Amino acid sequence: MSLLPLDLPTVILVYNTSLVAGASSMLHIRRQSCRPRGLGYLAAAYLLLAIGSAVAWGGEHAVLSMWLWTHGSLLLGLIAYTLFWAGVRQFSGRRQVPWRTVLLLPASVVLLGVVTGFPLQNLWRAGAFHAAATLALGACAFEMLRDYRQERLSSRTLLAALLALSAGIYALRLAYIVAGTAGPTGFAWSFYVLVFCYFGIAFAVATMSNERAEVRLELAALTDPLTGIGNRRWLEQRLPVELPVQSAIAQLDLDRFKHINDRFGHAAGDHVLVAFAHCLQEQLRGSDLLARTGGEEFVLYLPVVTQADALAICQRLREKVAALRIDHEGELVPVTVSIGIVWVDSAGTKSETWLKKADAAMYEAKLAGRNRVVVASQTKPL
Ligand code: GH3
Ligand code: MG
Ligand code: MG
Repeated sequence: MSLLPLDLPTVILVYNTSLVAGASSMLHIRRQSCRPRGLGYLAAAYLLLAIGSAVAWGGEHAVLSMWLWTHGSLLLGLIAYTLFWAGVRQFSGRRQVPWRTVLLLPASVVLLGVVTGFPLQNLWRAGAFHAAATLALGACAFEMLRDYRQERLSSRTLLAALLALSAGIYALRLAYIVAGTAGPTGFAWSFYVLVFCYFGIAFAVATMSNERAEVRLELAALTDPLTGIGNRRWLEQRLPVELPVQSAIAQLDLDRFKHINDRFGHAAGDHVLVAFAHCLQEQLRGSDLLARTGGEEFVLYLPVVTQADALAICQRLREKVAALRIDHEGELVPVTVSIGIVWVDSAGTKSETWLKKADAAMYEAKLAGRNRVVVASQTKPL
């Protein structure tokens, strides 16, 4: 005797309501989101599950013909769970599964059902439905966890856990069905847990959409839209407050950039900035920081580097930039860069102080004729 007797018709009504609420929630998130991937499929899956469950209920209460409700509810259930998997997969970041593929598996099972008549037997129909639900929801949990490395969001783990819990409930029910021990009270409990899961999944999808939007906003605030590299704010966040000994920081400024804009046009100037940034990025190590801190001004931070290597790196960058072949309407755009670099030889000084020193060295490079590297004196800055 259960402590809290659950009435199956009421629980199924709540279950169906949760599915309709879930579908509405998915459609709402889809409308709000700027990249609503997979949410249409998920909303359709929720709705089809609700309709399928209503059809099964109607059939069991002799509202529909036996043939129609058995085949119909199985078809709706199978399409719903295939859509569920396709929707979650796409929402996770994978490519859209085409409609034809989504329909292929349910259509083949139902065709098999029409030929063999297996859906007319409760055990076989329930077994097929529960096996499909277990596999689809298990695959959904797998998809979510598989993409975690690419997108480390906490809501992703929550979603994977809820999907795995739903798969577990269906697997347990399948075990009861196969063992022939499925009692109505046990199923009421499982419906109750599924209500929690389906609400939870809709909630986790909404949270993940929001989390994604926040990450995108933060990224946009820290990225230079033209070159795609970090901006001043990005650099400030990553640069140590005090630069450690044996690191180097350089100020880079394109030479006579105003002249490039005037002669070749602003679009050509933009093209030069992009080519310049990419040229530099190709030469750098993963631990180096390169940021566009102003119009044609860039800052490069080299952590853990000898003085000789820092100078050699900057000379190599300068040569690579001078060797860039940027074509504008058949004419070659001449690009050179002046670099001021300072090697950190003492601890305890703020990064901006070193940066000022590198900037002063860069101006020396300009005064000395441009297209050169000037090393600032290594004594502790002012
Ligand atoms: P110098 O060799 O002394 O550095 O001369 P310069 O012409 O490079 O220096 P100046 O600071 O006078 O000119 C910088 C120019 O960069 C002025 C501005 O119009 C241009 N600029 C700034 N941002 C952009 C941008 O995003 N795109 C383009 N095309 N030009 C830009
Ligand atoms: Mg400048
Ligand atoms: Mg300049």
